[in-house]
This record gives sequence, structure tokens and C-alpha cells, in this order.
Amino acid sequence: MTHLWKHLDAWARWLLPPQCQLCGLPCPGPEDLCPACRLTLRPLPGGLEAPRGTARGPFAPFCYGSGAQGLAQQLKFQRRPEAARLMATLMAEALPRSFSEHAVVLIPLPLHWRRRLRRGFDQAQLLSLWLHRLTGLPLLSALRRHRATAPQSRLPREARLGNLARAFHATSPPKPGLVPVLIDDVATTGATLSAGRDALLAAGWAPPLHWVFAWTLPPSPP
Ligand SMILES: [Zn+2]
Repeated sequence: MTHLWKHLDAWARWLLPPQCQLCGLPCPGPEDLCPACRLTLRPLPGGLEAPRGTARGPFAPFCYGSGAQGLAQQLKFQRRPEAARLMATLMAEALPRSFSEHAVVLIPLPLHWRRRLRRGFDQAQLLSLWLHRLTGLPLLSALRRHRATAPQSRLPREARLGNLARAFHATSPPKPGLVPVLIDDVATTGATLSAGRDALLAAGWAPPLHWVFAWTLPPSPP
């Protein structure tokens, strides 16, 4: 029977070869990215400062640019939720060591319900679901966005920081002994993470860690 399934799988791959999620070319292996596109994902160099507005820098496997930007944009703006599985797989491959040292709980930074309705899904929730499935770490929807804020990507840097003040509130009391890990797809100024962090702290949670797929490097000083 296993033999038959192997045959069927090979036949299906021949008929419909898996495509690279970035360039659309057929992928030779079991990966969702072709080798050329895999190289466009730039690992985040270590030892960088936290972006302004966050108390602690996020854990992020990649710099926001080229490949990582392509995947994040496919998920959000081209509405391809399947990109979330690949992004979560790449995040889980670089699971921060401190997550196994503490008892952690994953908490997505949600969209406002109106934007979620328009997009059809919430990218941070999707990512968190996949991360939960891939790592076994517990997941809790403990934040709600109660203000519909202007999309961060359309605002200049300074306006982004003010745009999100008090945008979230915690819907769940703290779980004793658990360190919250805020999940989002991309961190730019860190303003969204900060707003989520403030809401958790106000509800009595421990200071959260941050885990995102890609992080925009802060501009280098002149
Ligand atoms: Zn490719």
C-alpha cells in the first residue's frame, strides 16, 4: 500500500510539479522555495540594536528585503495564505534558544476585525497557528485591536509610532509562570510590537518577547 502511495505521489509531482512560492518555477525538491530564491532570504546579522520604540529587539530569522519582503507581501497583499506555512517553517527552523528555557505562550498581534474581514484572514494569527503546529508551543489569542488604525505601511516613520498608541487591549488575564511571545509577520519601527507589549503589561502580564519573520533594519546613523 505504501508502495502504491509513493507511486501516486511521484505521478502527482510529475503531473503538477510543486512551484517555488516566490518565482513560480518548478521546484526540484520538497522545499517550497527554489534554491535561487532561498538565497534571496538574507539572515539577520546578530548583535544589532533593538528598533526604536521596542524595549527588546525581536527575534527574526531574516532582514526585511528582497526574498523576505516578497514572501510577506504575497501573504498580505496578494492574499496567499499558503505563504504563512512557509514563513512559519522558516521561523521554526531558527527557533530562539530562550524559548525552550522559559515556559512561553505565543500571542498573535491581531488586525482590527474590519481589516481582517476585508482581507479574509489575519496574517499574524495564521503565522501563530502554523508556529503552534510546528513547534508545539501553546497559543493564546490574548489581544484585541480595538482601534482601526491607518495601515502602518502607508505612514511615515514618526506617524507610525503615534498611530498605534493604545491600539490593543488584553482579553486574557496573565497566565502565571508563562512568558508571552508576541507574533507578527514583519517589524519595521517596532511600534505595533510596542503597542501590544503595553497592553499586556497593563493587564499584568510579564514583559513579552517578540518573534517576527522579518525585521527592517534601523537606518544607520549619519
Ligand atoms: Zn524561486
